[in-house]
Amino acid sequence: MQEKGSISIHTENIFPIIKKFLYSDHEIFLRELVSNAVDATQKIKRLASLGEYSGELGDTTVEVSFDKKKKTITISDRGIGMTADEIKKYINQIAFSGATEFIEKYKDKGEDQQIIGHFGLGFYSAFMVAKKVEINTLSYQEGAEAAKWVCNGNTEFEISTSKKKDRGTDITLYMADDSEEFLEEHRIQGILDKYSKFLPVPIKFGQKDNQVEDGKDKDGNPKYKTVKEDNIINNTAPIWTKQPSDLKDEDYLAFYKELYPFSEDPLFWIHLNVDYPFNLTGILYFPKLKKDFEIQKNKIQLYSRQVFITDEVKDIVPEFLQLLHGVIDSPDIPLNVSRSYLQADGNVKKINGYITKKVADKLSELFKNDRESYEKKWGDIGLFVKYGMVSEPKFEEKAKDFTLLKNVEGKYFTIEEYKKKVEPTQTNKDKNQVFLYASDEDKQHSYIDKAQKRNYDVILLDGPIDPHFIGQVEQKDSNIVFKRVDSDVIDRLIDKDEKKESVLSDKEKEQIKEVYEKAVNNKQNSVVVEPMATDDMPVTITLPEFMRRMKDMQAVGGGGPMMFGEMPLNLAVSVNANHSFTKKILSAEKEEDKISLAKQAYDLALLSQGMLKGKDLTAFISRSVDMVSG
Ligand code: ADP
Repeated sequence: MQEKGSISIHTENIFPIIKKFLYSDHEIFLRELVSNAVDATQKIKRLASLGEYSGELGDTTVEVSFDKKKKTITISDRGIGMTADEIKKYINQIAFSGATEFIEKYKDKGEDQQIIGHFGLGFYSAFMVAKKVEINTLSYQEGAEAAKWVCNGNTEFEISTSKKKDRGTDITLYMADDSEEFLEEHRIQGILDKYSKFLPVPIKFGQKDNQVEDGKDKDGNPKYKTVKEDNIINNTAPIWTKQPSDLKDEDYLAFYKELYPFSEDPLFWIHLNVDYPFNLTGILYFPKLKKDFEIQKNKIQLYSRQVFITDEVKDIVPEFLQLLHGVIDSPDIPLNVSRSYLQADGNVKKINGYITKKVADKLSELFKNDRESYEKKWGDIGLFVKYGMVSEPKFEEKAKDFTLLKNVEGKYFTIEEYKKKVEPTQTNKDKNQVFLYASDEDKQHSYIDKAQKRNYDVILLDGPIDPHFIGQVEQKDSNIVFKRVDSDVIDRLIDKDEKKESVLSDKEKEQIKEVYEKAVNNKQNSVVVEPMATDDMPVTITLPEFMRRMKDMQAVGGGGPMMFGEMPLNLAVSVNANHSFTKKILSAEKEEDKISLAKQAYDLALLSQGMLKGKDLTAFISRSVDMVSG
């Protein structure tokens, strides 16, 4: 029997279009064909288990092979196979109409490869790389006749009977001249590793050498010989398909290593498992985060029924969760749609919500059950939690209860706990609790020290996300105000509206101000003379909180008015009217001595903040030497 036909579609020649549109992703042809083979294999197993197929199942391993001379790649399965009628129906009509629909939908979208970058066309994607495709198949049905279908990459096909004896399907691709790169072992192996590593049916590709014991030598030591063994490329039962109760920590850690061979062990993980209202399984790992978190994204792998789809989960997983590693497997995530559609998709939204909740619950559980070990991990997960706090309102609601603040003494508090702790000492005149923080323990040491002498507590907020985090906490609780320790003179850091008496007259204050203005010699920095504690520094340099925040926000790319971009920071120079050094300046006889003393005090203030550099530092040192020796 031989029959010729023509695939009836209105797009005259679909193959050049298939080629053009899937250009960047040609390699997925193998994913599609291997997935089809796996589906057919699972179907026969199911039929057998239902008693609808009583023949031998035999070895159902799917095999991928290639012949460099003949320029072919063959995918063979022992699945359900197809009759000639089924080929006509599934391949000529259904598969083809699927391909046609796809092309119709996307042909006007032009160069936007992203839209179509991550899913296949099913069977017809074979024509991205092959000039001729052959199907040789025998259906499982009793008395079925084997059939052969050949298509030369145009709309004509040929169908005939075949001599195939074993149940199942061989798909043979005669590779096109521009696709010969796929006729390399490492290339095929690479594609299989990427897309088929966790398919549920064993897949064989080539052979590997295995060392097996072969008797003993004359000294009684074991001898080995090399035997060729089938090379099974996949793990058919990855742990996300199993029940959490059947798994141990070692299993999760081993799987992590399998996914990311070069990474450090993760901190902990979450096993995801839902079947209503959508299907989703997976394992999310919490890695040890580095400060530069951009580079850690794109580590989550998305699967659909164990077939790898993509590791760009940008539109499927909320941004902060992209810092996690692991796998998500869901047949309910629509894969053949554009990205904007994906973001609006109801299932994707639900999946997002579910994962966010799961992650929050896990963290909450760790925090409640073992606070000590949670605190130990805070250095690694803090960035993640804060990122979630500022970017995902649903997460914030839960996370505020397990977000920790660490003070410079290394103690941890939740936001509420900390509020209570500082209430007696750090409530300002407006009844707000002022959270004092340092962003650099070394640089701001002198300020931290001063604050501590006042019995104030100082927390450390030195991460890239902290400027945003601070804003978030203040916005959620209007009674909390954050102030960096160096943002004001100590008396005003927590403004309690207590007036200090000044020992200087107004006239003396004016004199001192003039002297300092000359010494500072910088119009940008404003000089204020005010009464402070006598044991405070003669001069304090501060950077107002508001101004610095603008800068900080910019540094992490978080907006803030652009006008601050080019504007130099205005430092506030506060001169302590009550310090004995100030009196010393006033009583100096010569104007130049006054200025020199003031310079010294100003430089000391700069020095304490690590801001004295270059020429100024050199001048300061020689001036100091003169003063000490003279
Ligand atoms: P999809 O797999 O999404 O249905 P395809 O274009 O990949 O679309 O395949 C179309 C149909 O052809 C399949 O649904 C299946 O019925 C049939 N088919 C493809 N490959 C095989 C195979 N290896 N064994 C049996 N049937 C197959």
